[in-house]
Amino acid sequence: MRDAVFALAHELIRRRSVTPDDAGCQPLIGARLAASGFAIEALPCAEVSNLWATHGSGDPLVVLAGHTDVVPPGPLENWTSDPFEPAVRDGRLYGRGAADMKGGLAAMIVAAEFFVAEHPGHAGTLAFLVTSDEEGPARDGTRRVIDTLMQRGIRIEYCLVGEASGRERAGDEIRIGRRGSLTGTITVRGTQGHVAYPDEADNAAHRLLAALGELAALGWPAGDPQFPPCSFQIANVNAGTGADNVIPGEASAQCNFRYPPPLEPGTLQQIVAAVLARHAPRHELAWRDGGRPFLSRAGALRRAAVAAIERRTGITPVLSTGGGTSDGRFIAPAGAEVIELGPARATIHKADECVALADLDALAGIYTSTLSALLAPPG
Ligand SMILES: [Zn+2]
Repeated sequence: MRDAVFALAHELIRRRSVTPDDAGCQPLIGARLAASGFAIEALPCAEVSNLWATHGSGDPLVVLAGHTDVVPPGPLENWTSDPFEPAVRDGRLYGRGAADMKGGLAAMIVAAEFFVAEHPGHAGTLAFLVTSDEEGPARDGTRRVIDTLMQRGIRIEYCLVGEASGRERAGDEIRIGRRGSLTGTITVRGTQGHVAYPDEADNAAHRLLAALGELAALGWPAGDPQFPPCSFQIANVNAGTGADNVIPGEASAQCNFRYPPPLEPGTLQQIVAAVLARHAPRHELAWRDGGRPFLSRAGALRRAAVAAIERRTGITPVLSTGGGTSDGRFIAPAGAEVIELGPARATIHKADECVALADLDALAGIYTSTLSALLAPPG
């Protein structure tokens, strides 16, 4: 399987699929899966490419999920070799998307090909859900496909996302949940004036900074102990005209929460609104929900993956809920057991992104064993 995974990862990295452009990755994946007997359905939405592919029928429905899009490479002089011309050095495959997540995607596809060849009459359904809109706004990708599946009455039982989850190597850490993300944009109004006449003005910057200072020092409600605590971070602050003799009449800031369940966005929004009302009665507050937190149940998928990792690598994975958001946030609320298991994450979104060939090999084996445990149990 090792050579097959490497060759497919190579083919995917060569395609310059910067969000939301799929650049031909999904047609390649669809052709591969069709040759293995999968039924292929393209579910494009606006400029986003989505692929739904199934093999077998009935329950349980096991979904392998991933994305073909990558983040832009950034300045080319920071790369040792061309980000879209895959290169091997020291046992690693280099290129944009090697770890996030064309390597994991290639390993999932080769594992599925191998599995259906070994078990053509397996139980239940094996499916792929692939999008080209994970790194972008994530509006017309996985979220839309899940909506479509729900309308058809299709229920996902297990979902394995091949995102880069490893700390140092594939299998040493898997994600069983993710924190929620909530972004607030605050605009405070005062009255502009001359700094020499403060009595005739109302400094919006003073009001905003007093509120932000209080928010940054607050203790936020505790959440599920399996998660890192709630984090409030100020990301942007803007005020002033640039002149040193003008009191700003308006000041704005952007802040972001990463919060554990069972906290709700509404609770955090109320706390922010109350602090703002005290310091800056004239304000506007706009919120963007970047994804609700989820914690996946400890079910058969997690047991199968942990057993496969232990057998294949000899390590017992850490079960983690850290890191940023992922498309797991759209799949878990529909009732699926979700885990994220992929290669080491150290170089994702960076220059010289790479994946260890040993990780690709291990993952193909781990994915195959996990599928066998769920869809072709012995006896
Ligand atoms: Zn990713």
